[in-house]
Amino acid sequence: MGTMPYNRMGHTGLKLSALSFGSWVTFGTQIDTGLAVDCLAAAKEGGVNFFDNAEAYGAGLSETIMGAAIAQLGWARHSYVISTKLFWGLHGDPNMRNTLNRKYLMQAIDGSLERLGLDFVDICYCHRPDPDTPIIETVWAFSDMIAAGKVHYWGTSEWSGAEIAEAIAVAERHHLHAPVVEQPQYNLFERRRVEHEYARLYSSANGLGLTTWSPLSSGLLSGKYVDGIPEGSRATLPGYEWLANLLTDEKRNAVVRDLAAIAERIEVTPAQLSIAWCLKNPAVTSVILGASRVEQVTENLGALDALGRITPEIHEEIELAFLK
Ligand code: NDP
Repeated sequence: MGTMPYNRMGHTGLKLSALSFGSWVTFGTQIDTGLAVDCLAAAKEGGVNFFDNAEAYGAGLSETIMGAAIAQLGWARHSYVISTKLFWGLHGDPNMRNTLNRKYLMQAIDGSLERLGLDFVDICYCHRPDPDTPIIETVWAFSDMIAAGKVHYWGTSEWSGAEIAEAIAVAERHHLHAPVVEQPQYNLFERRRVEHEYARLYSSANGLGLTTWSPLSSGLLSGKYVDGIPEGSRATLPGYEWLANLLTDEKRNAVVRDLAAIAERIEVTPAQLSIAWCLKNPAVTSVILGASRVEQVTENLGALDALGRITPEIHEEIELAFLK
């Protein structure tokens, strides 16, 4: 397997493995602590140093499982980077859900740390923007979390380019900690924000890092849905019916067939090709992988071998397949 590159997260000094591992859908639904230990171990053995989490995943259960699995593995705290994300909340109270207000954030981070069994997370993201809270209130709360040593870097997820630019400007004006990383969706079907909307945010002295999600569009780009929904897949899970429609979309699956033909020719799997394609974008710090089985972790880490096989000609062929 190719050697794992470590990329600086935007203008910061923090280095993240080019491929990282996250727990959305899987931890607490398909993966218990035992399987989490095996998946995390396989990822770390392959060079992954960044593990992504969120308060909302499994309504807190994902953090509990990841924390317990890492404790069982006995990893030294210095050897990995871990994140969480805050926004949706775990309580119904008006001040504790769908918000980035100071009250919620200051209480929520303590809950996340307790579930993870950690004194700090390396990165904490705002899981979505909150138009009801002034941006300065959120910036101030994250600055205070950093000052308190509970968080080392903070960022956003699925904020607009304008919101991110405003948060950076507000932080500079008040000498507070600015957001340094965004976590957007990025894959062969979903490119707009990463390739256009954020384009101005990468190059300045405040250059933004990007940790991108759903590189396989929830599994669609692996090719496993071209003949319908396979048993045990994400599309069969209760509560994910909305995703099943996207995963079985005929037009998209026809494009995936073309992608699979290209992958076969260069002797990689469609999943490996799709992940490697994300990594080819120099703005991307780390592509966050998802997996419900150890074999998927191993296959997907093989994307590093696919990198060198995406010649300009192959890249062009992929573009043509997705633009038609
Ligand atoms: P992907 O798009 O890569 O989908 C992962 C899923 O695809 C797996 O759980 C598995 O599902 C299937 N799969 C993975 N590898 C293979 C393979 N080689 N062959 C066949 N099927 C495969 O990523 P995710 O959607 O899971 O997102 C990755 C991470 O990004 C999350 O864990 C989370 O950390 C982050 N994220 C962040 C969001 C945000 O709002 N900030 C939103 C969503 C994700 P199956 O069980 O069907 O086999």
